[in-house]
Amino acid sequence: MKRKVIIIGSGPAGLTAAIYSARANLSPLVFEGIQPGGQLTITTDVENYPGFPDGVMGPDMMDKFRKQAQRFGAECLFQTVEKVDMSKKPFLVWANGEKYESESIIISTGASAKLLGLDAEKELMGNGVSACATCDGFFYKDKKVVVVGGGDSAMEEATFLTKFASEVIIIHRRDEFRASKIMVERALKNPKISIKYNSIVKNIIGTKDSGVESIEIEDIKSKTTSIFKCDGIFMAIGHIPNTKIFNNSLSLDENGYIKTMPDSTHTNIAGVFACGDVQDSIYKQAVTAAGSGCMAALDAEKWLENQ
Ligand SMILES: Cc1cc2nc3c(=O)[nH]c(=O)nc-3n(C[C@H](O)[C@H](O)[C@H](O)COP(=O)(O)OP(=O)(O)OC[C@H]3O[C@@H](n4cnc5c(N)ncnc54)[C@H](O)[C@@H]3O)c2cc1C
Repeated sequence: MKRKVIIIGSGPAGLTAAIYSARANLSPLVFEGIQPGGQLTITTDVENYPGFPDGVMGPDMMDKFRKQAQRFGAECLFQTVEKVDMSKKPFLVWANGEKYESESIIISTGASAKLLGLDAEKELMGNGVSACATCDGFFYKDKKVVVVGGGDSAMEEATFLTKFASEVIIIHRRDEFRASKIMVERALKNPKISIKYNSIVKNIIGTKDSGVESIEIEDIKSKTTSIFKCDGIFMAIGHIPNTKIFNNSLSLDENGYIKTMPDSTHTNIAGVFACGDVQDSIYKQAVTAAGSGCMAALDAEKWLENQ
C-alpha cells in the first residue's frame, strides 16, 4: 500500500508531525528507530516543556506524545529505516527487510549528543550526567559542576552554568582550545570558571539515588589519575546529526545537518521535509523540535494537496 506520509524518527519532532498529519487524515506511518521516543527517553525530569508546571519525566512525556498521535490514527512501527530512495516518486523506504512506498517523507531522525563512552555516563544520564546545560543547568544551583570539551559549545555551556553553579570546571584534553578566541576569553574572565588542561575523564562515580559524587581524571602528560569531587558533569563535545542514510541524496551542511529552505521544512527534494534536531544545530530543544514537527506536517499536507 502506498502511504501518503512516512515519518522517520519518533522524538518530539517526529511524533508531533505524526499528531498533525494524522489529524489531517494522512494516516502517517512512523518508524521509531532504535530510540523510540527519542533523546528525552534517556533523561529524567523535563522542566521546560510548556504545559507541565510540575515537570515531567522524559519517557512519560514521550509516551503521551505517542498515545496522542495513535489516537488520531498514526501507525508506529518499532523499526529502523535502513535505506531510502528519494530519486523518484513514489519514494521508497526499507525497514526490517521490507519495502514501503510513500508520496512524501518527513525526516526527524535527530542528532545524538557525543558521549565519552563510559558505562557510568549512560547509567547516570539525567542523574548528575547531562548533555544539555540549557535543559539541566537549573538543577545545579550552588553546586560544583564539570564541563567536558574544548569547543565553542563547551565555552557557552560553561558560561551559562555559572548562572546557577558555584563553580564550573572545564576539563579539556589538550592544552589549547578549539573554541573561538572571544568565547574562550569570555569563559576565562568569568571568576567561577577554572580549567583543567591535558585531562581526560576516566570514570564517573555516583549512583542513581545520590547522583554524581566525583569523577576520576587522568592527566595525560604525567599519566597520573586523581579523584575530583563534583555534583554534576556536562558533556559538551558536540552532536552527530543522524543523516548517514540520507548522505547521498539530500543537501547537508558542513556538519551533516539537513539543509531546509528558509522559514520552512522543505529540503532540496520536493516532497521530503526535515524537522527537529536533524536540521537544527542551534536550538536543540524539545519544544523547538515539536514546533518544527508541526511545520513539517503542515508543509507536507500543503505539498500533497498541490500534487
Ligand atoms: C540527556 C538529555 C536531556 C535533555 N533534556 C531536555 C530538556 O529537559 N528539555 C528540552 O527541551 N530538551 C532536552 N533535551 C534535548 C531534546 O531531547 C532534543 O532537542 C529533542 O529530543 C530533539 O527531538 P527530535 O525529535 O528532533 O529528535 P530525537 O529526540 O533525537 O529523536 C530522533 C528519533 O529518530 C529515530 N531515528 C534515528 N535514526 C533512525 C532511522 N534510521 N530509522 C528510524 N528512526 C530513526 C530515533 O530512534 C529517535 O526516535 C535533552 C537531550 C538529552 C540528550
